[in-house]
Amino acid sequence: MNKQTLNFQAEVAQLLHLVTHSLYSNKEIFLRELISNASDACDKLRFEALNNGALWEDSPTLEVRVALDKDAKTLTISDNGIGLTQQEAIDNLGTIAKSGTRDFLSKLGAEQKENAKEQGSLIGQFGVGFYSGFMVADKITVESRRAGVAVDEGVRWVSGGTGEFEVETITRAERGSSVTLHLREDAMEYASAWRLKSIINKYSDHISLPILMLKEEWKEGADGKDGGMVATGAWETVNKASALRARPKKDITPEQYIEFYKQIAMDTEAPLAWSHNRVEGSTEYTQLLYVPAKAPNDMWNRDKKAGLKLYVKRVFIMDDAEALMPSYLRFVKGVVDSADLPLNVSRELLQESRDVKSIREGNTRRVLTTLEDLATSGDDAEKAKFASFYAEFGAVLKEGLGEDFSNREKLAKLLRFASSTSDTVSVSFADYKARMKEGQEAIYYITADTIAGAKNSPQLEVFKKKGIEVLLMTDRVDEWALNYLHEFDGTSLQSVAKGAVDLGSLQDDAEKKAAEEAAISFKPILEKLKEALKDKAEDVRVTTRLVDSAACLVVQDHGMSTQLARMLKQAGQEAPETKPILEVNAEHPLVKKLEVSTANEALFGDLAHILFDQALLAEGGLPADPAAYVKRVNSFLV
Ligand code: ADP
Repeated sequence: MNKQTLNFQAEVAQLLHLVTHSLYSNKEIFLRELISNASDACDKLRFEALNNGALWEDSPTLEVRVALDKDAKTLTISDNGIGLTQQEAIDNLGTIAKSGTRDFLSKLGAEQKENAKEQGSLIGQFGVGFYSGFMVADKITVESRRAGVAVDEGVRWVSGGTGEFEVETITRAERGSSVTLHLREDAMEYASAWRLKSIINKYSDHISLPILMLKEEWKEGADGKDGGMVATGAWETVNKASALRARPKKDITPEQYIEFYKQIAMDTEAPLAWSHNRVEGSTEYTQLLYVPAKAPNDMWNRDKKAGLKLYVKRVFIMDDAEALMPSYLRFVKGVVDSADLPLNVSRELLQESRDVKSIREGNTRRVLTTLEDLATSGDDAEKAKFASFYAEFGAVLKEGLGEDFSNREKLAKLLRFASSTSDTVSVSFADYKARMKEGQEAIYYITADTIAGAKNSPQLEVFKKKGIEVLLMTDRVDEWALNYLHEFDGTSLQSVAKGAVDLGSLQDDAEKKAAEEAAISFKPILEKLKEALKDKAEDVRVTTRLVDSAACLVVQDHGMSTQLARMLKQAGQEAPETKPILEVNAEHPLVKKLEVSTANEALFGDLAHILFDQALLAEGGLPADPAAYVKRVNSFLV
């Protein structure tokens, strides 16, 4: 191929413009990105060579070299990994394939496009990969040859980081790639081996391949010139060259754990917690699992894959191995290195493997235990971490109640709610139980759209009056999730909006008797009400759960709440058409007014419908015919 000049894809040109113009102060990450690419290229070679040994070309030692030429003002990062074909160089170094980078671009709102500083912080967050080289170089030359192709089919790619790049065919004996950065005048600080070593140490120590640099020695200056460090010609390994996960825990500092997390998770924030273990037993593996501090934007996408990287016997196999974590823990990031899985394992095989099942169970247990440790820690800082974890991920965790029966109890212990006595989402079932009233037989809860809505719900009135705490559940998943949890530690869970209230021994005999009498004396009116509302209500009955309100709606014991049914319909899903039960407060003046209106059919009918529609409004619903409701109410107002 003769030399060709090609244009960058529009997005790349945009990205390059940002990279070269942003005020990102942490430019040193370019080295991390290029070494990470070199390491990925070696991983790919190792993986492809599993099926095609010829790719090794008789040089089986994988390594990365970082070479400095102070005179030429260049820095070259070379690897003997998989390399690039000519077409791959054009495709991969001229377009953006990586979703993270596309996210990065789409995140740049109009405002940020103007603000070079903000752009900088986003660059740090996403890492723009290869293109970050242009933060320090005004020209980049890549020379490469793909493993297994003829030596005269190498490629040279050159660009000044503006709109275009050049490619041409070259002869290259070594397989793999060399990326040469022609350092910008304002980036000469990177022309220092000492500086480069310290950057490698900071960001790339966990890379499992050796990273080599030329050894330097002090040389006295001759003829009155200053002395300086000069290369000796011998290469030395400047990183630990063992994967972080493979090192003993005691040799790893928290900073190293955090730095590694930031790289694999593409997160700028430190993780909340991590757990690193070698698991031995029927299946052997190493797990390094992180709980992030912040939920990603796409967490609610249930198709989002878990963030675990899978290695088998230290060979990188795949990113996002979703089979290694249940879906409700999809926010966990980390790596798993299995000693037992076959190297040629595919995603499909993973789904069926017994070893994978036991790794998934082990990972799940480990994450739940880590969370439990935070939640029950005597240390306030750890406890605060749990609260912040819960605020970010509590709702996802609840999905586990329906998904992972074997850990339901463990999960239930981790749940936190607001309650009628606590506005913050901090009450556990155990806290609740410890505060239960003498004679109270159930854990009471209510589901609603908001805490205020739950708190003011008519169904809560009698509980307030009797000073019984009720858990307020306002997450969308609550009602669904609670379907799977019927008790906690031997005490049943009861929705205050379902079934008849049974306050058990909390009601004294006089109260019970009064309720029974009211029900009998009210019977004729109930019959009339039922008839008037037969299209709207399944049943009408007298209740003791109301104190201030005239009426409320409840559903049958195992029915779907009106709130959930409403939510499903809004989401365009099918919800069963169940009619609620209208419960009335026989003591309320509006209800008493019904008693004296029985002779006037029209008046009785209007009152009955107002009663029903108000009960619906009170729980956040809308009357089926709002205009009719307004008309009826107005007829009483004028
Ligand atoms: P990412 O590495 O995250 O995919 P980059 O922009 O850093 O994004 O790189 C783009 C692509 O260029 C890589 O996916 C890879 O295919 C190719 N590439 C980059 N560096 C190398 C390298 N040293 N050896 C082989 N391929 C490389």
